[in-house]
Amino acid sequence: MSELSELYQQVILDHNKKPRNFRKLESANHFAEGYNPLCGDHLTVYLDLEEGAVKEIAFEGSGCAISKAAASMMTQAVKGKSREQAEELFTEFHSMVTGELDEETQENSLGNLKIFAGVREFPVRVKCATLPWHTLQAALNNEERASTE
Ligand code: ZN
Repeated sequence: MSELSELYQQVILDHNKKPRNFRKLESANHFAEGYNPLCGDHLTVYLDLEEGAVKEIAFEGSGCAISKAAASMMTQAVKGKSREQAEELFTEFHSMVTGELDEETQENSLGNLKIFAGVREFPVRVKCATLPWHTLQAALNNEERASTE
């Protein structure tokens, strides 16, 4: 972890300790369970989708600091967004962590999600960071399960 910026570490640790929107969402009309067998991350994403927009989103589960922080920040990033905007963010996030998008020079709406750019140096961690997003995608598509495999 010494390669990663101090800011990155602080943000990850903060979200790991106090994950945002970490609860079961009783009003959810979509949900999916995600599993990353490489690391053991296991989480459920709950969505209340109203008129094509994410009215509420929450998650629960257990996993490493990166998967938990990624899920926490994802819920903040997609809340209030349209389904299309949420899917676009996933595409950008995925491209960034796999090194296809240079978040500094190419246009994107990643905002503070850029903090995860550092995981591209650690291929095993890419799956931890993208698991919440794959799970969100599965929930949007009414698939009950997502796996990084
Ligand atoms: Zn993990």
